[in-house]
Amino acid sequence: MTPLQQVDPAVFAAIEAEEERQQYHLELIASENWTSPAVREAVGSVMTDKYAEGYPGRRYYGGCQNMDVVEDLARDRVKALFGASHANVQPHAGAPANLAVYLTVLQPGDTILGLELSHGGHLTHGSPVSVSGQLYHAEHYQVDPVSERLDMDQVRDMALKVRPRLIVAGASAYSRVWDFAAFRAIADEVGALLMVDMAHFAGLVAAGLHPNPVPHSDFVTSTTHKTLRGPRGGFILTGEKWAKAIDKTVFPGLQGGPLMHAIAGKAVAFYEAMQPSFRQYQEALVANARRLAQRLQERGLRLVSGGTDNHLMLVDVKASGITGKEAQERLAIVGITVNKNTIPFDKEKPMVASGIRLGTPQVTTRGLGLEDMDQLADIIAGAVLAPTREELAPYAERVTEMARSHPLPGLS
Ligand code: PLP
Repeated sequence: MTPLQQVDPAVFAAIEAEEERQQYHLELIASENWTSPAVREAVGSVMTDKYAEGYPGRRYYGGCQNMDVVEDLARDRVKALFGASHANVQPHAGAPANLAVYLTVLQPGDTILGLELSHGGHLTHGSPVSVSGQLYHAEHYQVDPVSERLDMDQVRDMALKVRPRLIVAGASAYSRVWDFAAFRAIADEVGALLMVDMAHFAGLVAAGLHPNPVPHSDFVTSTTHKTLRGPRGGFILTGEKWAKAIDKTVFPGLQGGPLMHAIAGKAVAFYEAMQPSFRQYQEALVANARRLAQRLQERGLRLVSGGTDNHLMLVDVKASGITGKEAQERLAIVGITVNKNTIPFDKEKPMVASGIRLGTPQVTTRGLGLEDMDQLADIIAGAVLAPTREELAPYAERVTEMARSHPLPGLS
């Protein structure tokens, strides 16, 4: 019996069940990944016991010498990884990282300009249900209705019209490359600051497979748990100009004690991301996404913008006659986990949606390759195009077999 099993059998059982779910299902959720055993060891360590309010060398509690080592490692590594001069690794997640930037540079009522939520943007980029859309006046640019890609002339027109104090680039469901130099030029023209939220594609940036926003931005925010393959968490990169102000906003402005176990996990993940094997992993996940996108289209599904340049794609399942909700449920039946997602100009509500979002970070980590992507595309297309749910059983067997032949390391 493990200590957890003895003390709390209910939580132990839920964790066991989750291990089994992860082992025997295929996760195509674009924002998820599989952390290494080394990252999980750090996150599950005694670092969770320590209060370390403040920053390395300037703490409000005694006994922080080991906390300083770990936080310095995390800061130095993430700065080296992205070429930034200042990093704050304390944000508990992506949402508080974004909020910390807003609180640093904006006054309530100031205008921010970000990508429309239903066009791929994130809630924290000014949605009315988020504090970012409640404290600030949020305006949104959209993708072009025909190409379904960003049109930088349209972004510029919007910026000239609404004169934002802050422009936000970055998204949760956009499958194309971001032109940060163009965003910088627009920000300069209208006198705005530029924040890039690279949460989704940070791993690609670290591996040199996506342009790096750092040289073009006033702030870069990110999560650590998506393509970057670290523990759940966030960070902020900025230059010397805003370094002190950002640190002050994160602590004591917004948060109390940093989650030192998570920061230890971040340090390990940043180290892993600096290794050559991480670049190979990112190359594989991008190649897998391309192959999956190509084969899905060959099988008759419509992809928003006609494909992908990164780790994710949006499938317009409404064009095949079902809703995103139905597609998500059908794929759950066959053992593939995805999320329903609105597509640009969607007429369905977000809880129904016309699309599904697919991503390759987790399946690539577990070793699936190009031929597996062909199989996966055949299964997904088969499940989406099946006339009824009655026809799904054979696909479920194929998914279990694929998962079984690519076990997640360290799980029974
Ligand atoms: N920014 C983007 C672009 C995201 O996709 C997400 C999460 O999906 C976040 C921020 C928020 O991150 P978190 O869920 O860690 O708060």
